Amino acid sequence: MPSQVDLDKCIGCGACVAMCPAGFKLGANGKSEVIDPNSECAEKAKDACPVQAITV
Ligand code: SF4
Repeated sequence: MPSQVDLDKCIGCGACVAMCPAGFKLGANGKSEVIDPNSECAEKAKDACPVQAITV
């Protein structure tokens, strides 16, 4: 399943980007943006997110 970010939950902490730069970046709105919905590291990003904003 492609990874997704719930922008209502995301606080822009950047943990997902640190764990999975191939899959996520911080967008102009300061929140996480999926750049590769099928990145292999997405599960790690999901586990690192403090507010459970990522679904994989
Ligand atoms: S780890 Fe979660 S809260 Fe932090 S930027 Fe990524 S999606 Fe947003």
